[in-house]
Amino acid sequence: MPDPALLSINQLTTFEQWSLDQAIDGYARHGVPAIAVWREKLHEMGVAQAARKLKDAGMAVSGLCVCRVPVTTDAAVRREGLDDNRRQIDEAAAIGARCLVAVPVGMVDAAGMTIEDARARGLEAMAELLPHARGAGVVLGLEPLHPMMCATRSVLSSLEQANDWYEALGGGPELGITLDVYHVWWDPNLAREMRRAKGRIAVFHINDWLPDTSDTRVDRGMMGDGVIDIPSIRRMVEETGYTGHNEVEILSARTWWKRDPDEVVRIIKERYQTAV
Ligand code: ZN
Repeated sequence: MPDPALLSINQLTTFEQWSLDQAIDGYARHGVPAIAVWREKLHEMGVAQAARKLKDAGMAVSGLCVCRVPVTTDAAVRREGLDDNRRQIDEAAAIGARCLVAVPVGMVDAAGMTIEDARARGLEAMAELLPHARGAGVVLGLEPLHPMMCATRSVLSSLEQANDWYEALGGGPELGITLDVYHVWWDPNLAREMRRAKGRIAVFHINDWLPDTSDTRVDRGMMGDGVIDIPSIRRMVEETGYTGHNEVEILSARTWWKRDPDEVVRIIKERYQTAV
């Protein structure tokens, strides 16, 4: 069984029901020791106010989501994107987030480019952000997304590719990998790439892949309701030396965003003991 002190809930899980203010209160009420923050909700509340409230609640912040790293060659768009990424790094530092989840955007934001070009520009943009992250004391956690999302969300599509980028960028304390079971469970090279990821995991995301999924982005399952062998992947993550949070991240327009949020948190705590 995973350590109850390492449970974190990404507020996307109660995205439709709770503001950040309400999520901090709600998770604290159920004894959940950590939260991951979604940027739009953070802006709604105000960074300074959120930082104060998180501190007063004694709640750890396992991550801030999500830093969309530009892959374009359009100089103005790229500059604007990187400036915004740097502001977000500062926001992550302000709320004491252990990781800023970083995703090089998808092909929809790479008009006229080949996928190889988009990936190369994404890697360059990451290299440009690292000095700022180092200065702010923030870890950029590169998150590979399932290849089904390559067009819309991210050109970083596997743990192998994330490991390649980690090495190309030279590693360092300000760089890590966000490992989400949803995005990597299918990968026949997972065990091999996890061995390669020793000391690299910045944060671990848990949820499940529903066999009858109706939307690859916002129809994720509760742990135990799908096909992912979460305990095996958690053990692999722990074998990399990772001792951070097990962060529940369930985007679910069909089910969990419609349920009473207190009920959602209660069920997460149960499944954390039986399916993680
Ligand atoms: Zn994730």
